[in-house]
Formats: sequence, C-alpha cells, structure tokens
Amino acid sequence: MRIIDVHAHYEDEAYKEDLEQVFTKLKESGVAFVINAGAGIESSIGAIENAKKYSNVYATIGIHPEYVNTGDNVDALRKLYEENKDSGKIVAIGEIGLDYHYTKDFKEEQKKLFKEQLEFAYEVGLPVQIHSRDASIDTVEILEQTEKKPSKIMFHCFDLNEQTARFIIKNGYKISVGGNITYKRTETAINVLKDMPLESIMTETDAPYLAPQSKRGTRNDSSNIHEVIEKLAEIKEMDKEELAEVLYNNAKEFYGI
Ligand SMILES: [Zn+2]
Repeated sequence: MRIIDVHAHYEDEAYKEDLEQVFTKLKESGVAFVINAGAGIESSIGAIENAKKYSNVYATIGIHPEYVNTGDNVDALRKLYEENKDSGKIVAIGEIGLDYHYTKDFKEEQKKLFKEQLEFAYEVGLPVQIHSRDASIDTVEILEQTEKKPSKIMFHCFDLNEQTARFIIKNGYKISVGGNITYKRTETAINVLKDMPLESIMTETDAPYLAPQSKRGTRNDSSNIHEVIEKLAEIKEMDKEELAEVLYNNAKEFYGI
C-alpha cells in the first residue's frame, strides 16, 4: 500500500525529541510521502528545512489565519519562496484561510491576508491548502471574489459542510479528510462524503492534532492515517487497498510529487 499524508505539522514541538524515528516509522507503515504544512513564517522555514533533509517529506508555506497581525506577511512568504524554490520541495501555499472559531476579531484582516495569499499562489503557480473553521460562508465568498487564484484548491480537514461541498464539486476543487471522519458524525455529514466524487478526495492526519477515534487524545502521526482510510473505505463501500491507490494518485497528481 502506498499512502501520502497531505497535511501534517512536523514542526510542532510535540516531535522535538524524536522526529527522525517518527519519519522512519512512517516508511514502515506504508506512508510514502508526507506534506509538512507551514502555519506561519517560522514553521514554514522549518517545513522547508525538513523537506530538504528527508526525501519522503514535502513542504507547504503559508500564513494561517491565527497568525494575522503578528507581522508575518506575504512579502516574507515571497522571499522564503524565492530562496527555496529550486529545492523542488515546496508543493503548495498553505495553510491559509479563515478561522472564526477562537476569535471573531480581525475578520477583515484575516480576509485580506487570505486573499493576498491566494493571489500569491496564483503568481507562483502553486496549489493552496485551505483552513476554514466556522467561516465557510466567508471562505466561499473570498474564493468567489478573488479573480487571480490557482485552479488547484484543497480544503484541508474538510468539515463536511453540505453547502461548501456543493461549491467544491461545482468548481472542481478538492477536499482532504482526517481523524475528523472517524469521530461520531451525523448522517448528513456522512452523506456529504458519500456524494463527494472519489477523484476529489485526499487524506491527511493534521498530526500532531486530531488523532483518529481509537487513539483520540494522544499525539497523532502519519502512520495513523490507516484508520482514516479504513473509515473512508467503509463509507465509500470500497476495498481499502483499492481506495488507498486512488487517494495516492489523487495526491500525487494534485501536488506534482
Ligand atoms: Zn493543519
């Protein structure tokens, strides 16, 4: 089985002691590649460094909405990209988007930063990984209003919102699901996954967060992606191996790995 975890955070402090062992374990568990997501300038720098160091790791660079008003900006992102683009390891801009879960402050600043990064991704010809939490209406609105945006757009840790799902399918965008689908979900949410075309789906762990149900509350890592794929296979009524191969090819195509 070949698997790509399209979104994880290996710059997190949780891996400070044993990152090398974690990456070695991944190979043994069938995880061929990991896309290490940046969430601000500092973690984007780390994501690139680790991607250069480990052949099975790629990086995204971007400013998460949580980092709005911290001084992280698109100029710094552009500089980072220019300095490292020749490594071939930066495969997307992300994670970027809107988060109204913890705070509804700075909504306008979040929108502006999101839009600027969509335009930046368009400028450099890279896909984007979108983070949208309790902000689906505004996320769709920004995407609709932004003319210069890449055609390759992936909603990471997709919240299975029905309305957003329709927008995603209509535009040929992608979703990625993780441990969130292994938790108790409503029938409506499960139906969103049932109706989502197979070619639009990828899988992730969002490690160290969102460990799947059987390991909930512990430090997550990409080897736990098997539980996510199993759950998805159950929902899609498919053989796990067969589904894993489709997911692998989806991710490979989308990120140009
Ligand atoms: Zn994330």
